[in-house]
Amino acid sequence: MWGAIAAVFSSWKNPRALSYRSLHDIPEDWGTAVTVQVMVFGNLGEQSATGVAFTRNPSTGENQLFGEFLPNAQGEDVVAGIRTPQPLTARGAAESGQTSLDVLMPDAFAELSRIFGRLERHYRDMQDVEFTIQLGKLWLLQTRSGKRTTEAALKISVDMAAEGLITRDEAVLRVDPSALDQLLHPTIDSAAENDLIAKGLPASPGAASGEIVFHAEMAEALRAKGRDVILVRAETSPEDVHGMHAAAGVLTARGGMTSHAAVVARGMGRPCVSGAGTLKIDANAGTMRAGARTFRAGDIITIDGGNGRVYAGKAKMRAPELSGTFATIMGWADEARRMRVRTNADTPRDARQARMFGAEGIGLCRTEHMFFEERRILAVREMICAEDEEGRRQSLDKLLPMQRADFEELFEIMAGLPVTIRLLDPPLHEFLPHEDREAAQVAAALGTDLVHLKTRIDELEEFNPMLGFRGCRLGIRFPEITQMQARAIFEGAVAAARKTGRAVHPEIMIPFVAFRLEFDILRKAIDEVAKSVEEESGVKLAYLVCTMIELPRAALKAGEIANGEQGADFFSFGTNDLTQTALGLSRDDAAPILSNYMERQILAVDPFVSIDASGVGELVQIGSDRGRAAKPGLKIGICGEHGGDPRSIAFFEKAGLDYVSCSPFRVPIARLAAAQAAIVARKRVS
Ligand code: PEP
Ligand code: MG
Repeated sequence: MWGAIAAVFSSWKNPRALSYRSLHDIPEDWGTAVTVQVMVFGNLGEQSATGVAFTRNPSTGENQLFGEFLPNAQGEDVVAGIRTPQPLTARGAAESGQTSLDVLMPDAFAELSRIFGRLERHYRDMQDVEFTIQLGKLWLLQTRSGKRTTEAALKISVDMAAEGLITRDEAVLRVDPSALDQLLHPTIDSAAENDLIAKGLPASPGAASGEIVFHAEMAEALRAKGRDVILVRAETSPEDVHGMHAAAGVLTARGGMTSHAAVVARGMGRPCVSGAGTLKIDANAGTMRAGARTFRAGDIITIDGGNGRVYAGKAKMRAPELSGTFATIMGWADEARRMRVRTNADTPRDARQARMFGAEGIGLCRTEHMFFEERRILAVREMICAEDEEGRRQSLDKLLPMQRADFEELFEIMAGLPVTIRLLDPPLHEFLPHEDREAAQVAAALGTDLVHLKTRIDELEEFNPMLGFRGCRLGIRFPEITQMQARAIFEGAVAAARKTGRAVHPEIMIPFVAFRLEFDILRKAIDEVAKSVEEESGVKLAYLVCTMIELPRAALKAGEIANGEQGADFFSFGTNDLTQTALGLSRDDAAPILSNYMERQILAVDPFVSIDASGVGELVQIGSDRGRAAKPGLKIGICGEHGGDPRSIAFFEKAGLDYVSCSPFRVPIARLAAAQAAIVARKRVS
């Protein structure tokens, strides 16, 4: 007996338990318990049996008894798979030709069905039950809430609410928001056997198969021919965005959950596996090595962005299904939530997708992504390489109509919903070519000499570009960039309003502000442009100018930044940068450091995925408290990656934010998570 008890206690430390806890975020210090109970025996002959059953079908949610048993066997025999178990009911038996429990032991079966009903009424949830029949007498060994697929979770919740077993709020609480991902993207058919070659981070959910390509241009070219490709890179940069768009999925050897590849792929709803460190990618040689195997451009692979796995060959897929129960639960969630849910979108396609998923506006449009399109990148480069303001203005004039058209389309799609557009943010050198061959091509296209171009590239080179010449610093040094963007936004708003007959209220967001004066300088530039567009168009513009709060100083000085009529009209927390700057940990270099920290239990979760509530969260709280103290009722949102993370959303509810903004495919997750957070908050109060 003591041996058995000790074995259970020591099982807390076995590798399976460790990985289960890490997967389900169960704290190490909880420990386990041992229940000692009298044995019953299912192996006393043909009048005895043992089995496992669910009170409803755990994969479809159907309200139908589901399970298996073995005659003349003891408990673990069913689970261990030594003998093939038999179905409980005749329905399952018909397919397998086996005898079912209801036929073999009708009395025990009838009692089991009765008890199942009672257990469900008592626990008010679907149960996973183990039972033993000893010489014709039924014993229950244990019962617990059963694990289920997302599809089943939705159906069981909706059915139980209809049966009056649970309330609608409880139904909403029963569905795991993160698991909605399973419904929104194609998934790998779990029954299929696959050839695993590497494992990285599950950066953007969904599965995709396609030919390996190593260059963004190639991805586009093959896609244009109707072929599915997986873009494989050591890491991606903004130059690859068009290739990521063209690809069915993205695989990188470096980078973490907020790396460029991860953020952009999530935004596009492209499956992505990032940081698959065991892969050796040599784009120039056109090879990807996985251990002893070498894959070349054109070889087919499959990635699963839901679990970070990479397979050789094409895996069998299942298409996404948005069933009626999904819509029902989302409707109940929308009734329950307080916070609004917006989306991070910078293309018409993302914006439409997000609206389909229920987004209530755009919380972040990253304008830089619009600059990478093939037709524009040349003008952007010309602007960056220009000798003087005059030269820059000439190139910006070429960009203006294109930006205006971008915004006009976004405003139209969002049909009167709020749209927050952020001024250019990234370091300028991201737009310039990095390889010699490409630099020569760009110099030729610009009609400038290579030496001049390279000098400019060298000038813009930075040791820490993430903390360098970016954000509002760009607009302060080159006001003409801000002026062009503001003009494009206002003219786009006027045009969209004329077209749709519905007023557009643009919101212009200034990134990377640390000082009130930075905000003032750019606000003044924006207001001046607004005035001239009003004069030119005869339309009175209603717009807001807000700031990202993404630097610790901005959080601390939030009162100063919001203060007065000329202060920020609202805030949006950029928790990606706020996490990076508060922790002093670069987003792009964090992955190996964080995985080591999590292994050593210095951190429980990746702070770029789930907000560090006690540290970075305190900055969010300070920022919103001070902002609202200066400007009562100040609207405050969040548009970092945390805006789509359920645990972070629970924190933002408590912090009293007005909205979260996340990538389109996370919008349903955020709607559900925001509802759950609001329900929990109401419960706490009552
Ligand atoms: C942020 O910093 O949280 C943010 C949304 O901006 P970006 O990720 O573009 O830096
Ligand atoms: Mg930022």
